[in-house]
Amino acid sequence: QSSGSDEVSKAQNAVQSGTPTIFSKIVDKSIPADILHEDEECLAFYDVNPQAPVHFLVIPKCPIPMLSSATKNEQVLLGHLLLVAKITAEKLGLYEGYRIVINNGPDGAQSVYHLHIHVMGGRQMDWPPG
Ligand code: C5P
Repeated sequence: QSSGSDEVSKAQNAVQSGTPTIFSKIVDKSIPADILHEDEECLAFYDVNPQAPVHFLVIPKCPIPMLSSATKNEQVLLGHLLLVAKITAEKLGLYEGYRIVINNGPDGAQSVYHLHIHVMGGRQMDWPPG
């Protein structure tokens, strides 16, 4: 597992261009992921570097780079991603709650520029986050 500061430096060096990311390869199945949910619009899969006993990501299939680049056209899709996060959390038994995070841009410590919702649970979360 990488430490928090590793994650921040990775995020600060991340490429923000519109080029396809590793998540596009997960969407087109050219690289494997441990998939929890798939429909026409989105995928949910386990994060490879979990920060909690349960940690998965929900991503749109279309490559929106980040929340800041979403528009009114994506309104329904954004709502769908949140509902898939909720349904998948329930399927995994996170009845005591969970944390939802969207890292946005360098200050948000975003490292993959394909919009994703983090869902973490299975332990007590702290606040504030680092
Ligand atoms: O929000 P941020 O961009 O920092 O998060 C990217 C996340 O994608 C990290 O939690 C990382 O572990 C995860 N990841 C993954 N599978 C990959 C590459 C990154 O689950 N192949």
